[in-house]
Amino acid sequence: MPHTPVDAPDADITIQSSDGVKFHLHRKNLESHTGSFPGADVPTHGETTHLPERAKVLEVLFQFVYPRRHPISLRELEFATLMEVAEAAEKYEVWYAVKPYEDCLISHLPERAPDIMAHAIKHDIPDLIGKASQYIALQPSAELLKKLPTHLAVPMVEYQTTLRDSIFGAATRYIEALPYEGFYGSYCNKLTKGTCSADICGSCRVTLLAWIARLEKSGSIVVLRAALKTPVFDEKHQQGRELCSNCRENNCQNLPAIVKIVEDAIEGARPLSDFLQTK
Ligand SMILES: [Zn+2]
Ligand SMILES: [Zn+2]
Repeated sequence: MPHTPVDAPDADITIQSSDGVKFHLHRKNLESHTGSFPGADVPTHGETTHLPERAKVLEVLFQFVYPRRHPISLRELEFATLMEVAEAAEKYEVWYAVKPYEDCLISHLPERAPDIMAHAIKHDIPDLIGKASQYIALQPSAELLKKLPTHLAVPMVEYQTTLRDSIFGAATRYIEALPYEGFYGSYCNKLTKGTCSADICGSCRVTLLAWIARLEKSGSIVVLRAALKTPVFDEKHQQGRELCSNCRENNCQNLPAIVKIVEDAIEGARPLSDFLQTK
């Protein structure tokens, strides 16, 4: 015998979950705590309204209509159930549930970023889109697209391609455009010493290009930001050569300008929402 979490004796509306649990509620409460629940077409006298959500989901949702002393914590829910609650909260416009479920979804970043992103886009929640995109912006496309609804595939690829070019493309182009004398006998800031422009030696050039290539595999903006804070040049990419005499281990004179290009590109990146509007 399933129990009924909300069972008011003077209820004027009965709602039955997909798994057969009945909730006896007050239309007045539903109307004052939700935007579109149960809806004007739902009968109020004696008839039972059948909803497609499971009892567990409705029980959590109705906590935000009938506050309880010991509510079920959203953080204790399995992720799939939390997503069902989130979906139902949006569908029935249970506004008191929205902030709590959004906070709880954020606690499931980064591992659930694609699901959270899909939900945030579907319901147009810019804050959640922004937070989730921090984690999926640099994820390998093929892996990510398997987890996203198909209609998001094209905007996501366009977003990622543009972002990657504005970050790593710009950094690479900057390095390649620095005056470069040739590989041997050169050192950084030799040609342009005393001027405001910079030049680069062969060893630092190879090292910095390899560093940018490794940053491209960061996987997320969060990881990328951390890597920028403490640049580490992998010795095996330096092919046995050290940075030039003007530069020191992990500290090429050209590095600050390159870090700034990458940081500015992250800050100025076009948001995912730009690409969604063109669909
Ligand atoms: Zn150098
Ligand atoms: Zn250097």
